Amino acid sequence: MSITSKRILVTGGAGFLGSHLCERLLGEGHDVLCVDNFFTGRRSNVAHLMDSPRFEVMRHDVTFPLYVEVDEIYNLACPASPIHYQHDPVQTTKTSVHGAINMLGLAKRLRARILQASTSEVYGDPVVHPQTEDYWGNVNPIGFRSCYDEGKRCAETLFFDYHRQHKLRIKVARIFNTYGPRMHPQDGRVVSNFIMQALAGEPITIYGAGTQTRSFCFVSDLIDGLVRLMNTGDEVTGPINIGNPVEMTIRELAEAVIRLTGSSSELIHAPLPHDDPVQRQPDITQARTRLGWEPSVDLETGLAATIAYFRDLRQTLAADKGTHP
Ligand code: NAD
Ligand code: UDP
Repeated sequence: MSITSKRILVTGGAGFLGSHLCERLLGEGHDVLCVDNFFTGRRSNVAHLMDSPRFEVMRHDVTFPLYVEVDEIYNLACPASPIHYQHDPVQTTKTSVHGAINMLGLAKRLRARILQASTSEVYGDPVVHPQTEDYWGNVNPIGFRSCYDEGKRCAETLFFDYHRQHKLRIKVARIFNTYGPRMHPQDGRVVSNFIMQALAGEPITIYGAGTQTRSFCFVSDLIDGLVRLMNTGDEVTGPINIGNPVEMTIRELAEAVIRLTGSSSELIHAPLPHDDPVQRQPDITQARTRLGWEPSVDLETGLAATIAYFRDLRQTLAADKGTHP
């Protein structure tokens, strides 16, 4: 199928999800401008795209205005793992709020479509289960996770106000836990932590009793959902949940990682972080009906690909240090 080539801005393009999105959009024949301040993103995530004449990387912090000419904007810039977004919480809120204002201002000047990478965290510690988009959430406004959760909620508010006030063409995706190759090995998220620990033969750290649940989506599925959402008609604004509805406990995830890595790591327990949500599972009825989307990669397949990535990464890091992994 032939498509019209567009100029597309991806903020946070050197991060985990952003790098896969840049790759997908380039593969579709678009010109891609990747903007990133490299807080959690890495050049190595997009190194394989650098040879393309259609790909450009710009170091820029989205809390400052940006003047470029594009047709579409995917706004992904924001640290996503709790240890990274809590490292400088004021900057995290600024990134979500000022970043949204700057990118919405850019979209307004250009009359460009703009998609916001929102999050299941807007539901906080949810009392409605599974979470539907019309649920307003249960969020602590003053806790350790608030810089991220409330920043993302305010960004959603801004998107809808720009839509109502300035007729901007917006798309809001609420992303649920996503994993896959190019996750940062030290970002503290559960999938990368468990795999790195299993591969190193170190104890696997389950926070709390491990009975809390999450629903894990493989990165290729998630990216497909984002692109489908962007390509919908102007009447579709979202918010739309994008995630894999297969829910599991964190203990079950640890057991799956041990089985698939063949590791002899033991399971140990560590304190539960503040405000850690007890349960999380997306209701994806809207994504199914409005985007014709649902995930296709099961956990075993996705984890196997992610484990292979981290195995290679460990070998590369060990070779760089001149030691054996
Ligand atoms: P990531 O940390 O790998 O990527 C975020 C990127 O944004 C990084 O490259 C980082 O350097 C960049 N960045 C951060 N602050 C910036 C700033 N002020 N200016 C410019 N660039 C900045 O995280 P990710 O998992 O790829 O997440 C991407 C987006 O998706 C985030 O907005 C996140 O909130 C959202 N999201 C992700 C998940 C998930 O499970 N991965 C879940 C929900 C929402
Ligand atoms: N978690 C864990 N051990 C780890 C890292 C995380 O048990 O080494 C738990 C964490 O407490 C949470 C779940 O795994 O209940 C998912 O954590 P993550 O930071 O990946 O994402 P989020 O809490 O934002 O969903």
